[in-house]
Amino acid sequence: MILALGCIADDYTGASDLANTLTRAGLRTVQTIGVPANDLALPEVDAVVVSLKSRSIDASVAVSRSRAAETWLRGRGAGHVLFKICSTFDSTDAGNIGPVMDALRAECGETAVLVTPAFPETGRTVYQGNLFVGAVPLNESPLKDHPLNPMHDSNLVRVLARQSKTQIGLVDLATVSRGADAVRARLAELADKGIGAAIIDAVFDRDLETIGLVAAEHRLSVGASGIGLGLARALVSTGKVKSTAAGGTGAAVGGPAACLAGSCSQATLQQIANAERVMPVLHLDPEQIVAGGGEAQRALAWARPRLADGPVLIASSATPEAVAAVQARHGRDAAGHAIEQAMADIAEGLVQAGVRRLIVAGGETSGSVVDRLRIPGFLVGVEIAAGVPVLRAVGAETGEMLLALKSGNFGGPEFFTDALKLMR
Ligand code: ADP
Repeated sequence: MILALGCIADDYTGASDLANTLTRAGLRTVQTIGVPANDLALPEVDAVVVSLKSRSIDASVAVSRSRAAETWLRGRGAGHVLFKICSTFDSTDAGNIGPVMDALRAECGETAVLVTPAFPETGRTVYQGNLFVGAVPLNESPLKDHPLNPMHDSNLVRVLARQSKTQIGLVDLATVSRGADAVRARLAELADKGIGAAIIDAVFDRDLETIGLVAAEHRLSVGASGIGLGLARALVSTGKVKSTAAGGTGAAVGGPAACLAGSCSQATLQQIANAERVMPVLHLDPEQIVAGGGEAQRALAWARPRLADGPVLIASSATPEAVAAVQARHGRDAAGHAIEQAMADIAEGLVQAGVRRLIVAGGETSGSVVDRLRIPGFLVGVEIAAGVPVLRAVGAETGEMLLALKSGNFGGPEFFTDALKLMR
């Protein structure tokens, strides 16, 4: 199998967002957790998104992990690699966008790299190289106070120049609006001057299509899900990829189903209340979990005899007052960590008991469950709710399995039943 598109994402949620965007645009897409093993058996796909956690780590480590990801992707035939960054260009003057871009560029011999975090439908636009977050420039947005990488300059030509060894140019909106040939000519002009990368403006959705068409002719680009969408549309419109009706995840998996909820968001509390009407629900005792009182074993003993009769839901979720009380007694991090580990124990036990369809509510909770189950990647399927697709495990020791991993606030009031309907 030859990949049409390889992506390297600098964080996990950004990777999920990109993988979902590519799937919606008709690309069969797998998201991997970290750089996969060489022998990972991939299904037939058009794109792979390798999720790294490299946004805020030391630049040299970010470079070496990104290069390993690139080698893996190119080894599977990826002609174009997108380095996926945050749509607010989260980084410091020390990196990591510039150093990773430089290293990937050197590796693939790209002359001029197109760079844009623009994604107009989510309010990220770039004009004259300046990034806007909604109606305000980046340096006036909440990102100016980000704890790890405060953004004090909205001019991305300057921001990237401070991080990169190559000179940075600009492809402005006037050029983009004249179409792909004008962009090609401008890029050639920049490359002739030895300028190795260019911020490219995008204000409207159609700009992404122009950018995607030109980027797809190159080896490397840098940007957020917006340029990913542009690339996906270009691959489909030029016939390099045959568009697939969004998100087939293959044959039904069957087997017992279970839901786990560790999110305490309003949306999740409502979803649990609604689930109580249609499936057995066990509410864990957070005090017992933090005290190490065997709560996970109790939950598994409760669930096992019920699995044959239909889905069950196990929740640690509690009201804000109850959460505050537990945190006051044990500390926020200690309580959160203990509960996440208990959820991972329960997930592991459920899978050992035969569960093959697993729905998890809560971002951190999902992370600890996926780590524990050692799932190397997912084939992305149809969306249950905006931003929450059905996932089919790829290369998992557990064998065939479907998952849904939801951040707290996502999904409608009937999320658990909505998910189960699509996870056959
Ligand atoms: P969300 O996506 O809503 O932020 P997360 O899973 O990311 O959900 O975070 C929820 C955090 O709250 C986790 O660390 C989880 O372990 C913790 N938690 C879950 N239930 C409780 C509870 N009853 N009391 C205190 N903390 C809890």
